[in-house]
Amino acid sequence: MDGSRLWMALVHHPVLDREGRSVTTSVTNLDVHDLARSARTYSLAGLVIVTPIEAQRRIVERIVGYWEEPEHAARIPRRKEALELVRIARDVEEAKNLVHEAHGRTPELVGTSARSGPGRISWQELRTGIQARPHRPRLILLGTGWGLADRILDSCEAILSPIEGTGGYNHLSVRSAGAVTLDRLLGSERPEHAGP
Ligand code: SAM
Repeated sequence: MDGSRLWMALVHHPVLDREGRSVTTSVTNLDVHDLARSARTYSLAGLVIVTPIEAQRRIVERIVGYWEEPEHAARIPRRKEALELVRIARDVEEAKNLVHEAHGRTPELVGTSARSGPGRISWQELRTGIQARPHRPRLILLGTGWGLADRILDSCEAILSPIEGTGGYNHLSVRSAGAVTLDRLLGSERPEHAGP
């Protein structure tokens, strides 16, 4: 599957807190590393870290910059390959502009959430859409905290149905949810028992 025009954004504002208020969360080093590795694994065009806080953007620059230094890159070359996909934006609009600059077209915004709700599309529908129109840039938004604020979800052309496990427990980390989403959209369809 061709993910060359698929981007992912990790959104730190506006997201929800436990009480459903719109807040700004802090960037987590692990989120940047893990989501960059997932993005690289599925050959995404890029991973955008979205935060309105200047100091937080500097932290992301330091995370990426560390792996650009030869002696660190030499230690784990594959990590450098992943972090090279990382971009930084103040808000979702700027993330959209980054994708537009890369492909000359405004991306389709695809929201994600652990909550079901009206207008969700199945990951199969989106997978089929990517197969049918791989040249259309798409930006998948992942939230932090207690999820993306409604005004972000409302701005999306599509919202993916939640990933559901086998019972009522549904508290995936954004890192796990990002990886599962990418595998469902782009992963090999080859059944496990298929031969070489
Ligand atoms: N209760 C929150 C919600 O409704 O999204 C979970 C927030 S989770 C810590 C952070 C992000 O991971 C979510 O904004 C979403 O992008 C993703 N995520 C977590 N669980 C998910 C699920 N079951 N299905 C789809 N995305 C999920």
